[in-house]
Amino acid sequence: MKTSNFRIVPLATEIAEAARHAAASGASDHAIITADSPRGYPCRHCLRWAQPGERVILFPYAAIPHGHPYSETGPIFVHAEPCERYAATHEFPADFRGGRVFRAYNSSYNMVDAEVVNGTEPEAVIEKLLENPETAFVHARSVTRGCYTFGIARS
Ligand SMILES: [Zn+2]
Repeated sequence: MKTSNFRIVPLATEIAEAARHAAASGASDHAIITADSPRGYPCRHCLRWAQPGERVILFPYAAIPHGHPYSETGPIFVHAEPCERYAATHEFPADFRGGRVFRAYNSSYNMVDAEVVNGTEPEAVIEKLLENPETAFVHARSVTRGCYTFGIARS
């Protein structure tokens, strides 16, 4: 399904590359892990599940930057090997249609709303959050572990 009024914002390639360099140099907060299940290791750069046997880097990412009440740094995965940044930014990533919660933030990084995808299409939930004129952007996160998955911007 094509989205009309929003676009998907995958992790920036520079951040994925920096994580790969940090992991290669042995940074203690960058762990290299081999995926051992098909739906446990979402790569924030290509927006696909890493498959069993693929290596991923686990590292802390500031999804909401420092200096705000909702500032937040949390663990995310990226593929350890270079992968292609998710390019279909006008299509909701197929691998993450379920198990996500959407948090809406205003332009001051304050959370203004949140909604779990529960038997509905994620596009409908996002469009509803964007109907609020205060919503500046939306984050998709894991509904179980809370980890940041990707951003959603107004088109
Ligand atoms: Zn990847």
